[in-house]
Amino acid sequence: MTYLIEDEVIYITNKVLKNKEDICTCEKCKLDIVAISLNNLPPQYVVTEKGELYKRVNNMNIQFEIDITREVIKSIEKVNKKPRHK
Ligand SMILES: [Zn+2]
Repeated sequence: MTYLIEDEVIYITNKVLKNKEDICTCEKCKLDIVAISLNNLPPQYVVTEKGELYKRVNNMNIQFEIDITREVIKSIEKVNKKPRHK
């Protein structure tokens, strides 16, 4: 039941990357950023049941978005330092 959190991470990744001109935004780097972010998110976000997460999103839990954004930014820095593409 992790697809919703994935959608949220992808959404935030795209949002953050839009404001970063010096970062590679190819599909490979984007997928890396999403994967690293998902790995680093607190487990309660990733393992949350579908209904529970719906509630969080519907309540527009600001902390939820802040946490994801923070992880996405960290992941972007990591991927940018060491891009896996040629
Ligand atoms: Zn790239």
